[in-house]
Amino acid sequence: MNIAVWLERTAHVAGHRPALMRGDDLVADYAGFFARAAALAQTLHDRGLAKGDRVALCASNSPDYLVVMFGVWIAGGVVVPINAKLHVKEIAYILNDSGACHVFAGRGLIADLSAHTSQPITALEGADVAALTNGRGAAVALCAPDDLAWLFYTSGTTGRPKGVQITHGMLAATSLCYPVDVDPVSPDDAALYAAPMSHGAGLYAAIHVRMGARHIVPRSGGFDPEDILTLSQAHGPTSMFMAPTMLRRLTDAAKARGARGEGIKTIVYGGGPMYRADIEEAVAWFGPRFVQIYGQGECPMAITALSRADIADRSHPRWRERLASVGRAQSAVTLAIVDATGQPLPPGETGEILVRGTPVMPGYWNNPTATAATLHDGWLKTGDLGHLDADGYLTLVDRSKDVIISGGTNIYPREIEEVLLTHPSVHAVAVVGRPSAHWGEEVVAFIVPAPGMAPDRATLDAHVLANLARFKRPKAYIQIADLPRNHYGKVLKTALRKRLQDTAD
Ligand code: AMP
Repeated sequence: MNIAVWLERTAHVAGHRPALMRGDDLVADYAGFFARAAALAQTLHDRGLAKGDRVALCASNSPDYLVVMFGVWIAGGVVVPINAKLHVKEIAYILNDSGACHVFAGRGLIADLSAHTSQPITALEGADVAALTNGRGAAVALCAPDDLAWLFYTSGTTGRPKGVQITHGMLAATSLCYPVDVDPVSPDDAALYAAPMSHGAGLYAAIHVRMGARHIVPRSGGFDPEDILTLSQAHGPTSMFMAPTMLRRLTDAAKARGARGEGIKTIVYGGGPMYRADIEEAVAWFGPRFVQIYGQGECPMAITALSRADIADRSHPRWRERLASVGRAQSAVTLAIVDATGQPLPPGETGEILVRGTPVMPGYWNNPTATAATLHDGWLKTGDLGHLDADGYLTLVDRSKDVIISGGTNIYPREIEEVLLTHPSVHAVAVVGRPSAHWGEEVVAFIVPAPGMAPDRATLDAHVLANLARFKRPKAYIQIADLPRNHYGKVLKTALRKRLQDTAD
């Protein structure tokens, strides 16, 4: 099944429904959306695109992004969404690795990209793409569930990005889990694109197309909290995906203007650790509008979900514990926690999280070595450490690569970060290990102070010691103006470790 048949069906039964919006302006109804995407598919065929060929999309969010995505699928092609904020050399690497035969790019990127790649490039905005989406439409190509739909390049917090193969079957499974495990979708809803479509926010387009909901793309094409609050209020009920750092900014902006999230139906957050202090503040301010998901490119958006009720139900005796978890397995997967030898562990014990099920990737693109290291007997090794409770709630402890081993004891940085973040003088924090002749590794905390604050060592030490065992106390606190992050907002702990290494050298 080709995921693009969902667009074809919605266009047939509800062609007049509003589909694509740029800010407050309606750009296309469902009939127009499908007609443009099918015409693009025909143009791509005319230019020689064959089934399975890759087409890269490297631009900020726009309604045309969705037209191209569905157009490529109608043609039987594979979309390679690339974050437009990457360095041009990183983009060129992905273009080469994926073997993309055509590129759609933001206008501002075209000159730079042309110097690094030989593929034909079309500007995603304006006349260039409009000219390709005007003619007669192609029929939706027949696809099997195992056929590739999307090559998702991992965010590369460690090493070179790898191309995760996402099939039409995986997209359908992730999409169908959404209304069951995350949030029901109604035709009156609007998907608001607050986060890049090249990542999870784009994956959620399909289920909203299937239900005939609106797709609202803020005019900025990026994350602007003010715009999101205004658009939601004008066009609600809106749903959107956000990384935890974005939610924090949204809460600050809403508080500053006294907005309580009017028009926002659901904010799905995930993609990185949500600190307890931040979600508690967001729920206290916005009310029951949140659902958490845990996923990774290799099992996109579909490993676990923490429900709206779990997040909002303060009266539950284990509310805080559950809020700190990532919820329970979504419907299309099975979870296991295993020790270093691969043996299953009982509830309460921490080990590596394994996942199997329909949304799990068949492997990395052209990378059998990485595939063999990640998939074992149908199980995906997530590289995340965590534990399950007796009710099936999963708590992530940390990435296995980030665990600090000091004096032979495992120390999980996230636990220390959670505690430091509750101190009023700390705005953001990242804890990493530094090589130590005596301990193997020792704990170092990078601290971004809250505005106007300059926390000293004694204050932070006292705060940590009031909450955690002595051996977890950082040996150093390093103040830093901002934490290094990748283009999805994830903290680059590799860069912090390198900084410590360089200083030691
Ligand atoms: P990516 O493949 O770039 O989406 O990164 C996936 C990784 O992000 C996962 O393996 C986790 O380490 C982390 N992650 C995703 N969702 C969550 C979440 N809800 N809470 C904490 N970490 C998360």
